Amino acid sequence: MITPGQTIGIVGGGQLGRMLAQAAQTLGYRVAVFDPNPQCPAASVCHRFQPGAYEDAAALSGFAAGVDVLTYEFENIPAEALRGAGARVPLRPAAEVLHICQNRQREKAWLKAHHFPHAAYAEALDGDVRSAVSEVGLPCVVKTADFGYDGKGQMRVGDAAELDHAAAIFRGRRCVVERWVDFVCEISVIVAKGPEGEGRAFPVTENIHTRHILDLSIVPARVPPAAGRAAEALAIRIADALQVVGLLAVEMFLLPDGQVLVNELAPRPHNSGHWTLDGAETSQFEQHVRAICELPLGPVGLRGPIVMANILGEAWQGRPPRWNELLQMPEVKLHLYGKDEPRPGRKMGHFTVRARSAQAGIEQARRLQALL
Ligand code: AMP
Repeated sequence: MITPGQTIGIVGGGQLGRMLAQAAQTLGYRVAVFDPNPQCPAASVCHRFQPGAYEDAAALSGFAAGVDVLTYEFENIPAEALRGAGARVPLRPAAEVLHICQNRQREKAWLKAHHFPHAAYAEALDGDVRSAVSEVGLPCVVKTADFGYDGKGQMRVGDAAELDHAAAIFRGRRCVVERWVDFVCEISVIVAKGPEGEGRAFPVTENIHTRHILDLSIVPARVPPAAGRAAEALAIRIADALQVVGLLAVEMFLLPDGQVLVNELAPRPHNSGHWTLDGAETSQFEQHVRAICELPLGPVGLRGPIVMANILGEAWQGRPPRWNELLQMPEVKLHLYGKDEPRPGRKMGHFTVRARSAQAGIEQARRLQALL
């Protein structure tokens, strides 16, 4: 067990690292953060900050030597570099989990090998998008295997002209081509697992994306109860099969017939779990700390309907957003990540609205987004 007072090392110092550090400190842990950027959101809230490149295996090993347990807050860290660091201290989730989840080809192949439901797909070997598309059929989505997030590195292909375009853009890149899924809605389940295998799933979250970036998370998700239960059970089985220690976020598509397909896995806290800070009995960040430190997992109950809205750089428009309008409302909580440059599409913060129903929360969140 890693006890309060010992040090948690977090690789990556974005907003996920920042909120994780804050939760760890609430439980009395010391926190060290490794990130290339000394101005990253977590740098100002940790006990020790170490600047360094994610590819620098020696620097990561040195960092690991000074902590009692090591974790990470995003996927695009070379798993090999972390594997070396993980030889010194417990790395949670393990490097193998990261290795699978950080590459779409491996992730899809793993889902397929373990018979978890996912959209039909083909690998575009040697960047040969055309033959993969002919295997899958139109419409489809071409996605790069590595380093994609928030819809970056992907393109929908619906006809021959778009296929020509995609074939040119993705030439020579490792890709997967996925059949287009006409989903009813997108949902996610965040599961926490301790080292002894005990696991708990947060309630199913419904997610609305705008221009490929998460816009709203809605809880309880407006899905049939049976589909919700199936999604939770599926997420737990995936976390079991991957032998995750810590959090695993499972993003899924709900189909019109009630079937659930897995879209993506993330072995870390997740944007679609930010509502847990204000709306669950335990936050996802605290739960991750509890899991990786071998503490008892916390209760995951919902405190009432809640909606989370991301605040992107666009909200600035030459002046700061109207925070006071938000802060006047007792049912609203504001979380800002301390980033100084509000670029379009950049996640600057989020707010949550607690309401009498999911629908009322959505309407209030939309009003507040317009008002900001
Ligand atoms: P991803 O980066 O895989 O999470 O994809 C980003 C977003 O693109 C998803 O949240 C969906 O809204 C959409 N998307 C991804 N794959 C598909 C698909 N096979 N069919 C329909 N929409 C998709």
